[in-house]
Amino acid sequence: MALKVYNTLGRKKEEFKPIHAKKVGMYSCGPTVYNYAHIGNLRTYIFNDILRRTLIKNGFELNQVMNITDVGHLTSDSDEGEDKMLLASKREHKSALEIAKFYTESFFKDTGRLNIQKPEIICKATEHIKQMIEMNEKIEKNGFAYFKGGNLYFDTAKLDDYGKLARLKLDELKEGARTDKDQNKKSPTDFVLWFTKSKFGAQEMKWESPWGIGYPGWHIECSAMSSHYLGEQFDIHTGGIDHIPVHHTNEIAQAEAAFQKKPWVKYWLHGEFLVMDKGKMAKSAGGFLTLQSLIDKGYDPLAYRYFCLGTHYRKQLMFSWEGLDTAASAYNSLKNRISEIKRQAGGEVNPEFKEKYRTIFMQAVNDDLNMPQALANLNQMITDNAMSPNTKLELIADFDEILGFDLLKEEKIDIPVDVQELVDKREEARKKKDFKLSDKIRADIKVKGYVLEDTSEGPRVKKI
Ligand code: AMP
Ligand code: ZN
Repeated sequence: MALKVYNTLGRKKEEFKPIHAKKVGMYSCGPTVYNYAHIGNLRTYIFNDILRRTLIKNGFELNQVMNITDVGHLTSDSDEGEDKMLLASKREHKSALEIAKFYTESFFKDTGRLNIQKPEIICKATEHIKQMIEMNEKIEKNGFAYFKGGNLYFDTAKLDDYGKLARLKLDELKEGARTDKDQNKKSPTDFVLWFTKSKFGAQEMKWESPWGIGYPGWHIECSAMSSHYLGEQFDIHTGGIDHIPVHHTNEIAQAEAAFQKKPWVKYWLHGEFLVMDKGKMAKSAGGFLTLQSLIDKGYDPLAYRYFCLGTHYRKQLMFSWEGLDTAASAYNSLKNRISEIKRQAGGEVNPEFKEKYRTIFMQAVNDDLNMPQALANLNQMITDNAMSPNTKLELIADFDEILGFDLLKEEKIDIPVDVQELVDKREEARKKKDFKLSDKIRADIKVKGYVLEDTSEGPRVKKI
């Protein structure tokens, strides 16, 4: 079965054909670690994870690389604003390295709780300054750079197809669509490859370079690290849609200027944004929701994963508490239904049924990661009475390799002490055949958010 993905380059779904038969190289733009990841960022990493699992399920040998942006970059994509890392250092009275370490750990704690698998290679920008300098040297040697006012700039006019990913209309941009106050630039689309003239007196991170002591521009980080690990041409590059017009556009410009090979990357996949009522959720704007804030309100992180998979990754997703509640209860009832199937385990595994449901599930997944359809297929399968519980259990295990919902993991619910006391009291009442009291206690348990079921092994408590 062919895997199809929507390639931003051609603006259409294309059959995925890697450069080297079964081996796939994929680069995913990673987090900037000067603050917690917000749930919008995490939506993008859930999309990356589904793509990763889909490639593996299709039998490809995947090498996924993700960067950690621990060099201080500016709050605006176009070389403007303040240094994000420096802002965080001031805010928290810590060094830039301490800030980066803390937020990198917190990022992986979040992705772990969301069952997002770790890429094969995780690389820090601060450990690859050498590769960035070497790439800048190639760009300069090939005639695509100029040095002015203390900084090395990329000369976008030298590339005849600059902006092809974003389909930028360069004439309009030249007339001021992209505001830029940097007088050194020959064109508003030009961007910095290496800063020596720090705009900030207290710049903490600096390195020696052929252009003087300074630090790299943001875009060179991803071009240099991806090519270092995946080669001068590779298969897939991912990120959020905000990266199309500037960051990814400039990554392509740098790589194609340095290596003189086209296309640098064959497939570009972008995830749409998670938005709030009041608009965009932005890390630099503060006041955003973290995964921990959802957990503190009692949500299972995997309920958030379920919420995200309910909308196709190329559609904007509006966050609301009602929407999250709906997803959480759908996820809960899915798990409850599966527990029921596990309890009934038995029956022959029917290969035809297995094949039928596996095919329709994989058709949805391989159709540009149509997860809302894949979820509908899962629900249809588990409610199909013609199938034995054992056939269902094998399919659930198979689908969960893509979904990452821990569908067969036994629920380990921490029952609060007061609920456990009620359960014990009710058990006593039931044994004494005081059914009136027993029903009343059952209702009290429900008010506390739990349901009680009587099974052959005794009472079982579940979260509603
Ligand atoms: P950052 O750490 O800000 O560089 O962002 C990490 C990833 O999250 C990037 O791929 C961004 O494109 C993506 N991203 C940022 N904001 C959102 C959002 N509101 N919804 C979905 N993805 C986002
Ligand atoms: Zn990047």
